[in-house]
Amino acid sequence: MKKLACLMLVVLVTLCCAVLAGCAEGKMDAAIKNGDNYTIAAAYDDETHILSAVQTVELTNRSENSFDAIKFHIYANQYRQDAAHPVVPNVYRTRAYPNGESYGDIAFDSVLVAGKPVAFTVEGEDCDILSVPTAGLEPNKSVEVELTYQVQLANVHHRLGYNDNTVNLGNWYPVLCHIDNGSYTASPYYNIGDPFVSEVANYKVSLTLPEKYVVASTGELTDALSSGGNVTYTYAANAVRDFAMVLSDKFTKISRTVGDTQVNYFYYADADAETSLQTACGMVEMLNEKVGRYPYAQYSVAETEFCYGGMEYPNLALVTSRSESYQDAVAHETAHQWFYGLVGNDQIAAAWQDEGLSEFVTYLYLDKVGTVPLATNILQNIRTYTTYVDVLDKYYSQVDCSLRPIYGYKNDGEYVVFTYVKGSLLFSTLYETVGAAKFWKALSCYFDEAIFTVAPYSQLENCFAKVCGDEAANIFEQFVEGNEIIGKVTD
Ligand SMILES: [Zn+2]
Repeated sequence: MKKLACLMLVVLVTLCCAVLAGCAEGKMDAAIKNGDNYTIAAAYDDETHILSAVQTVELTNRSENSFDAIKFHIYANQYRQDAAHPVVPNVYRTRAYPNGESYGDIAFDSVLVAGKPVAFTVEGEDCDILSVPTAGLEPNKSVEVELTYQVQLANVHHRLGYNDNTVNLGNWYPVLCHIDNGSYTASPYYNIGDPFVSEVANYKVSLTLPEKYVVASTGELTDALSSGGNVTYTYAANAVRDFAMVLSDKFTKISRTVGDTQVNYFYYADADAETSLQTACGMVEMLNEKVGRYPYAQYSVAETEFCYGGMEYPNLALVTSRSESYQDAVAHETAHQWFYGLVGNDQIAAAWQDEGLSEFVTYLYLDKVGTVPLATNILQNIRTYTTYVDVLDKYYSQVDCSLRPIYGYKNDGEYVVFTYVKGSLLFSTLYETVGAAKFWKALSCYFDEAIFTVAPYSQLENCFAKVCGDEAANIFEQFVEGNEIIGKVTD
């Protein structure tokens, strides 16, 4: 995700409240073979704002334990009126609900396992986990689950919801919970950060909707069939960790090819669309060359309405219309295609791992194209961080400077300062210490080792240690534990 600019303002407000191509292809083939398979047939009614879907998931138990139940995240329920963790934190509610409060949810008509109806339950502290009984699914055994459901969209400028210009379909369908150490991590939703962890999987998704809509989507369009004023688009996406779409009857689409990828830009209000497309293409080109080749046939950036700066999904970035740092957001979300998309991480436990890195890589891109010198962004971040910590020091007897799980921050402002600002300072310190050549080599090592996985941050640290020596590992530890000294923190 890309937070809005004016970090100092956010601080004050919130205080008050080059891998070888053949090798990569082999890894993609393996990821496809080892991934679960989702097939979703959905229809969108733009009068009721209801998405009706039938979804099958062919999944294999790849853990060493047997399971009596399969767990899915159902993030659509986070938009309920009585949600314990409202999807939008208070400080962003005005921006998220310009037309007044609005709510949504997901309701299941049926759940089948191997073709037979089962007594499913909706659980979790916020009704955001679907539990499907499987009567002892042994390791290496496969099963097919079929879910029939309806998603009511809210009128909200968020990942999932409709607004005056677009329909955002992010985190809309039940997605398997991540398995860690042989157990499902059915973690709750948090309205700070991007509280998602998911494995790569294979998707075939069809969406039926009125013909007036243009669709920006994860995956590749494989079929389009018109009938009675509606059109059914079918997409295939292999080895991706999520599937999202943005619909609009106002979209114009422009495209360019970079490497093996068609880069698309969907916009409706952007007066400088060519520049936005160039930013996306430039970042893809830079990371193709420096880190590793983007293995997908298409990548789309979609202008949309969102209460933050943007949001990343595989093959698709949402960028908030009219935001003052629009090009920065295009670059940041594009960097996420590598750091979150191709190399995944636990975005709850170590959000800085993809956010800090995507932010710093954005600074490198802006420096490369002559928009903002690297030193300017770094100096601004040092000032933001030290000011924030100084103020915290005055209000609290103890200041925790560690990089924590997202639920460990007091509020969204603290999350932003530590995850984005301090996170990018971690990577700028590494860059200054080891030099550009070794920095990129370490990221290339990370990409090569961890592509299509959910990588612990120790793997990133180990790549830097391997390429750059122990000093790099020491920098990671100091920043994560909060023992580093950045600027003049306290008197
Ligand atoms: Zn981000």
